[in-house]
Amino acid sequence: MAASREFRCPYCGAPLDVTPDSVIVVCRYCGRPSLVASDVDAGSVVMVPALKRDEAARRAVEAARRKLRLRLRLKRAVFGDPDLLYAPYYFVDASLRARYRARVKVTYTRTVSTERGATTEVVTKVVSVSGDVSYADTIPVLARRAAAGAAAEKLGRHYLSTRPKAVPLEQGVDYSTAKAFMAAEFGKARARAVALRDAVDELLKRVDEDAKRRARRAVEHPAASAQVLDKTVDFEVERADVSPLTYLPVWLVPYILDESQYSFAVAGWDGAIIAETEPVFLEQRIGYIVSAALAAGLLGGMGGAVFPHSLIFGAALLLAGSAIAFALGARVTKAFEVRA
Ligand SMILES: [Zn+2]
Repeated sequence: MAASREFRCPYCGAPLDVTPDSVIVVCRYCGRPSLVASDVDAGSVVMVPALKRDEAARRAVEAARRKLRLRLRLKRAVFGDPDLLYAPYYFVDASLRARYRARVKVTYTRTVSTERGATTEVVTKVVSVSGDVSYADTIPVLARRAAAGAAAEKLGRHYLSTRPKAVPLEQGVDYSTAKAFMAAEFGKARARAVALRDAVDELLKRVDEDAKRRARRAVEHPAASAQVLDKTVDFEVERADVSPLTYLPVWLVPYILDESQYSFAVAGWDGAIIAETEPVFLEQRIGYIVSAALAAGLLGGMGGAVFPHSLIFGAALLLAGSAIAFALGARVTKAFEVRA
């Protein structure tokens, strides 16, 4: 274990909860993010500025309107105050190339003429093939240890397809919303490793597809069923460039409809819908929601601080916390499915 060096918030002096993996720690008292890792350059951390609160709420109402099942009941929906959350990402620009040899079992039917007429028979062959495949993509990596869910992937992909302008963290932080920052839990080296693991999976899928295609072609039966029996793959990473740590904003927009609470998670810069929570019945599920949100560690001081003052408003914030847990953490997503 490393010597217990104490980290303190440079803004307010409060002690920071630093784990060995921490890259950016968010002060639980003043909410400001501090850099504590060495493999990330403080000056290079960037963030995408968020839509204004009113604009985020307007986009969410429009999205709700577009949903058929809500259209008739929209008049009864009560929208809560949106909450902003910043999620930490790396984007890994990766390019890989593989050379492979494989044995593929191909099965097809053919018609044979015999003295008693035409019959079909099943033919199975094992074909040896070889080839080259490549894979290149920019892979979003959420800098959190918990497994990222589909919504985290969707938010990262949405950033890559829309490319909003990012500014240095110091320029972009609005300290009235700074408590919305999620700590970044790992640096560039691990981000590269996570991205390459995904990239190698994709590359190997392409190897299988290519091997099957070549085997079908070899037996001249394009519709034959094919199964890769074994393969030898040599691959090399041609490129794996990691972006600066990039904070992406997410607005969480809660609404109450027929005594159920829902919320939308919308991309913070353009209002595109990223995730939507299942209904939660307030009176039955508050206890569950509180524990799920706190267990997920995603609320910071946000919901907990508000909860005692106003049950409903606090519940809305806690739900917003569980919404992003739903969006960003597989464990809580499962809990939601169990209870929904
Ligand atoms: Zn502080």
